[in-house]
Amino acid sequence: MLEKTPIIGDVTPRPGELPSLVGMSRDQLAAALTGIGIPERQTRMRAAQLWHWLYIRGATDFEAMTNVSKDLRAELVRHFVLSRPEIVTEQVSDDGTRKWLLRFPSRGAGRPVEIETVYIPEEGRGTLCVSSQVGCTLSCSFCHTGTQKLVRNLTPEEIVGQILIARDRLGDYPGKGAEEGTAAPSTGRLVSNVVMMGMGEPLYNFDHVKSALLIAADGDGIGLSRRRITLSTSGVVPMIPRAGEEIGVMLAISLHAVRDELRDELVPLNRKYPIAELLAACRAYPGLSNARRITFEYVMLKGINDSLADARELVRLLAGIPAKINLIPFNPWPGTDYECSDWEEIERFADLVNRAGYASPIRTPRGRDILAACGQLKSESERLRIRERMALEAMIGAD
Ligand code: SAH
Ligand code: SF4
Repeated sequence: MLEKTPIIGDVTPRPGELPSLVGMSRDQLAAALTGIGIPERQTRMRAAQLWHWLYIRGATDFEAMTNVSKDLRAELVRHFVLSRPEIVTEQVSDDGTRKWLLRFPSRGAGRPVEIETVYIPEEGRGTLCVSSQVGCTLSCSFCHTGTQKLVRNLTPEEIVGQILIARDRLGDYPGKGAEEGTAAPSTGRLVSNVVMMGMGEPLYNFDHVKSALLIAADGDGIGLSRRRITLSTSGVVPMIPRAGEEIGVMLAISLHAVRDELRDELVPLNRKYPIAELLAACRAYPGLSNARRITFEYVMLKGINDSLADARELVRLLAGIPAKINLIPFNPWPGTDYECSDWEEIERFADLVNRAGYASPIRTPRGRDILAACGQLKSESERLRIRERMALEAMIGAD
């Protein structure tokens, strides 16, 4: 059994809740307008107008839409919302990394859920690390997100909402002006890149991730080039070709081990889709070329997967795949037995891979002071909750 908990799949709005226009495709938007009685001949133009307000201007209420008639605005207010997720906390790290804890309302039978989104400013670019699910059903042994019990898919609205919140908070819309001290990267955008590397397995929420990323890549809206969007998967092999054909974004694979025996342990999904099958899917990834390489992520775990023999085997396995290798120093979390490899070990590993012709950057841990680094997401909020529970228990005990 790989899945530890069933996904709470019902994400329909509760009765009486107005649907949000954020996250709808252009066709859905046009259909929604027809649905409230806008004449068919107008819907395309109106949908384009709304799209512009939502994704170029970052409008958060209908009142701002000055080129939409007052009557139509009133109709829109009666039927739809443009809501953003609620920001529970916003933290800024010493190194400029920002982390938002966001709360989404309950859907179907579920209760409100929280996820984290992280913004990493770098020289010449700014990367937003977006979540695709609340928690994750796959229990990779070194990942904190995988220990979370509650799992539900995020909707397109909630995935796009993370990008919009980041742009709101960073002032990343033309004309609104960036916050002081935040340098705009060469693209002129603060959020210049999006990586689906937050909480969750994006290929287990394919339809919603696809809808959201197609909105992010739409040239008349958020307008991120597909080459600046990366989807990271732990290896859901049957969905990899669809990711390439239907979304067309860059692919990252969480490899982490070069032998099935070890990968079975670190990434249990490997028991279903072993390394050979995973790499065959990578070799066949649509659009793969030297200019569009696959990133292989490799977490450095002391004494587990960090030997030079592992590095040599990695090079052998990837032969012929246009690839770069991202070495991630392990980020510890409360309760884990793993340790991060020593720095010299990581450098030796990187050198060997590099000499074989692969770019092998070592990912500098960012935002460690606010627990925003890879695999640490959610730990802070869970810790807070434990603290709240302890306070409550202390109170009950005192009664
Ligand atoms: N579920 C997807 C995407 C999210 S994880 C996937 O697994 O690819 C983003 C990356 O962080 C993955 O490569 C993951 O393996 C890695 N990661 C998870 N926990 C980590 C930790 N504690 N330290 C460093 N990297 C970690
Ligand atoms: Fe899920 Fe990715 Fe963490 Fe594995 S590494 S438990 S797939 S979020």
